[in-house]
Amino acid sequence: MKPWNIEICDVTLRDGEQMPGVSFRREEKMDIAGMLDSIGVDVIEAGFPVVSKYEMQSVTAIANMGLDARICCLARARKGDVEAAVEAGVDMVSIFIATSDLHIRHKYRKPREQVLEEACAMVEYARDHGLEVRFAAEDASRTDLEILKDAYRKGADHGATLLSFADTVGCLTPLQMQHIMQELVADARKPLCAHCHNDMGLATANTVTAAETGAFQLHTTVNGIGERAGNAALEEVLVAAHMVGGVDRYDLTPLNNISRLVAQYSGVPVSKNKAIVGEYAFSHESGIHIAAILEDPATYESIPPELVGGERRFILGKHSGKKALEHVIGALGYHLSETQVCWVLDMVKLRSEHKCSITPDILKKLITESQEVR
Ligand code: MN
Repeated sequence: MKPWNIEICDVTLRDGEQMPGVSFRREEKMDIAGMLDSIGVDVIEAGFPVVSKYEMQSVTAIANMGLDARICCLARARKGDVEAAVEAGVDMVSIFIATSDLHIRHKYRKPREQVLEEACAMVEYARDHGLEVRFAAEDASRTDLEILKDAYRKGADHGATLLSFADTVGCLTPLQMQHIMQELVADARKPLCAHCHNDMGLATANTVTAAETGAFQLHTTVNGIGERAGNAALEEVLVAAHMVGGVDRYDLTPLNNISRLVAQYSGVPVSKNKAIVGEYAFSHESGIHIAAILEDPATYESIPPELVGGERRFILGKHSGKKALEHVIGALGYHLSETQVCWVLDMVKLRSEHKCSITPDILKKLITESQEVR
């Protein structure tokens, strides 16, 4: 199988920041941009400069960091927005217009042809000012396919080098995404981008399907933060690209660190069972599982934790078994008789069935007490 032909555009600093209550300071944006660059992310969408003076300064600062990644910013199809992008010194601008009837009716109050014409003029204007231009269709997933193809043709004709498909409200399933992408890829003159939201919990699935169907630029955010239910998660898309897509040019080891950094700066904690970066992503409690993992971790881990800077952990609880407990006791430096191990195991199960967690301190106390048991 040929590896996926993809690049990653991470939009944590723009779409991620549109999550309710999230606002990054300039230094925080720069920290995150630096880590995204160390992973090898191809494009960093740094912000939406026309929003405020401070946002303009942040985008400019990132554009001046000298990173390997190309720096992108967002612009409506308005001259002032594109001029702000030029002023910020970014490499790429994403010029977006909504293309669905619903959005055109409620947002623009002018004919579709006029909206498209004005956008194409801005694509040309940006290109003529030396910017790489992504022509982005908002609410593309609810746009008639023939209308969308026509819009992409015109965007490409006027100088866009990337054509972005946004499932803005996260309403697609992977099979629908596959069908649409096949149609668009066959028709488009420039590479396509997939920008997926997570309203039905399918953002990563749809992004991965888009990649498997020929989309080139995949949009992600760290921890999947973003408007409403968020965007496709960087860590999930990258691991799929590595494990399934045969893409090996990204360094995945900083993923756990960047996840913690973004959780801290955004104030949005990561759920314990979040794929790849959640506290329990590589934790095991079941005695059956742990006994097998001690033989070969691949039995119950499809992703090696060290690949993504994660750590395997054994959690003791009501499903624990003797082998797991012996392993943990041994790792703590104790040697107990079989009777003593069984006594500790009984106590562990009893406690956890009363919803008491088995902290390391409690375990050590149980081990000490067990040494009285004969
Ligand atoms: Mn979005």
